Amino acid sequence: MTLCARANPAPRAFARRSVSSARVTTTPEAPARPPAILVVDDEPTVLRAVRRDVQSKFSPDYRVYAAPSGAEAEELLGELARRGDTVALVLADQRMPGMTGVELLDRARGLYPKAKRALLTAYADTDAAIAAINDAQIDYYLQKPWDPPEEKLFPTLEDLLGDWEADARLSDAAARVVGHRFSPQSHEVRDFLARNRVPYAWYDLDRDVEGRRLLDVAGVPADRLPAVFLRDGSVLEAPTPLELAGQFDLPTHAELDFYDLVIVGGGPAGLAAAVYGASEGLRTVLVEREAPGGQAGQSSRIENYLGFPNGLSGADLARRAHDQARRFGAELLTVQEVRSLEARGPQRVVTLMDGTELAGHTLLVATGVAYRRLGAPGVEELSGRGVYYGAALTEAEACKDQTVVIVGGANSAGQAAVFLAKQAARVLIVVRGEGLEASMSHYLIQQIESIPNIEVRTRTQVTEARGDGHLEQLVLNGDEELDASAMFVFIGAAPYTDWLGDQVARDDRGFVLAGPDVLAHATWPHERDPFLLETSLPGVFVAGDVRHRSIKRVASAVGEGSMSVQFIHQYLADQ
Ligand SMILES: Cc1cc2nc3c(=O)[nH]c(=O)nc-3n(C[C@H](O)[C@H](O)[C@H](O)COP(=O)(O)OP(=O)(O)OC[C@H]3O[C@@H](n4cnc5c(N)ncnc54)[C@H](O)[C@@H]3O)c2cc1C
Repeated sequence: MTLCARANPAPRAFARRSVSSARVTTTPEAPARPPAILVVDDEPTVLRAVRRDVQSKFSPDYRVYAAPSGAEAEELLGELARRGDTVALVLADQRMPGMTGVELLDRARGLYPKAKRALLTAYADTDAAIAAINDAQIDYYLQKPWDPPEEKLFPTLEDLLGDWEADARLSDAAARVVGHRFSPQSHEVRDFLARNRVPYAWYDLDRDVEGRRLLDVAGVPADRLPAVFLRDGSVLEAPTPLELAGQFDLPTHAELDFYDLVIVGGGPAGLAAAVYGASEGLRTVLVEREAPGGQAGQSSRIENYLGFPNGLSGADLARRAHDQARRFGAELLTVQEVRSLEARGPQRVVTLMDGTELAGHTLLVATGVAYRRLGAPGVEELSGRGVYYGAALTEAEACKDQTVVIVGGANSAGQAAVFLAKQAARVLIVVRGEGLEASMSHYLIQQIESIPNIEVRTRTQVTEARGDGHLEQLVLNGDEELDASAMFVFIGAAPYTDWLGDQVARDDRGFVLAGPDVLAHATWPHERDPFLLETSLPGVFVAGDVRHRSIKRVASAVGEGSMSVQFIHQYLADQ
């Protein structure tokens, strides 16, 4: 089979500012061929038509190949792999003699694990397609006929390729980070870059000689780590998140002085409000202190969110929501923490961590929750050095062949266990209660039961963490010693609401009261009743996990964020 290459699209440009006088020279790399899309169908007319349609839309950014059978497609994929080419998408017919589409897509996963895989099916094959989504982890199925392609084929393929590109860009490093694995500062920098979708390569000084070489060339002292080497040759020594944000052009300052809606928190609730607010004509700004996505952005796979039958990663959800909000004109500021709230007459004014103020007619509190700290001796000292709060997906690779412990019995803990079990030798879920049934979804419990290297220890608590510079051992229930290199803690939920001071009524655990709960437990200054999601301060609304008695789920946070915009319209109309 002959392979033909097309011209390479222009590389993406990154704006950079030089920081350190030390510069590291990089060797220019040979331009790579555009990634491939492979379409497979045994029906010659169908194959020609799909190839023509896909080519008309996606060439020359992608090279489009066609194969008339599963066997030839597999051979072609092998040849592409040997040449070192990338494959972005395989789109295969289900009913083919010799090898079905599902069988081919399953085998394609071995050669190109990151390629998106979609099935073309006739109506009668829908059941096989749904089963394939579960069994062979296929990304999507499309029903024939796909005419008109602008409506039935292109949107789906664009979506799949968008996800693939976002993932692929991560290997096209915009920065090289050099530091020590068990350094909380290195963890923070890597986590920040990953969550803000800045592709980077990681050099662990304890393992990679290249990292040491980079430091020597640039003359970075040992007490100024981690060092971040940028593409233009400049070097950032022990950078803060704000410095990193400046380097990677992440917006940190608002464009206007006054908005219709100021949203605090960029998790699912805040992002949903940004999409609905901006799409309905409200001047909308969202302020997020870390990275868009909130807790959901840390999830390795959300499987119960409506409309994504094969689940989607939190990073994909965050990226899609962020892009959607931006497309409607919402401003999204990152690495900006809101420190306080003030009511100045009808204006609702927040002060940001750099002292600047943002004012609006209305404000939405969508600041979510954070995991509680684990109070056992030794744990705090080893935080960021093997002890992590939340999923810390950036650490997964370092857990290869190790024993890791997950503390907590909710869905977030279950997902982390499933995700880490792919790398770790052994994953131990430690829960205080009798079992997982009360706190974890049934589908996750089933998945966990089917994975041999995950164990669940009920009626168990971590009572001590030990280690010299990094976690080495845990003590369970006071006397059982367990060697472990990483512990991920997912316990309880404490709301981020201290910044509200006494402006807004909260329950005894700090969750924000809204609507009927304000009437029942707080002072309400108006004759009209508060709107369902309105807090005790008129014009200030709340959505998502931070609300008193909220349901801690992505869908409910998205629902509340969307609903809040309706109440905000009604509030503005009354003013
Ligand atoms: C690992 C993991 C897996 C999960 N899996 C699932 C799942 O499969 N299905 C499901 O339905 N749910 C899941 N959840 C729960 C779900 O993610 C949450 O219910 C949801 O994210 C809540 O959304 P939110 O917008 O209310 O708050 P959050 O997601 O907590 O977002 C709040 C945001 O506000 C920001 N913030 C806080 N204070 C400030 C401030 N002062 N200034 C500026 N910004 C601030 C935070 O940085 C954060 O980004 C999971 C959670 C985790 C952690």
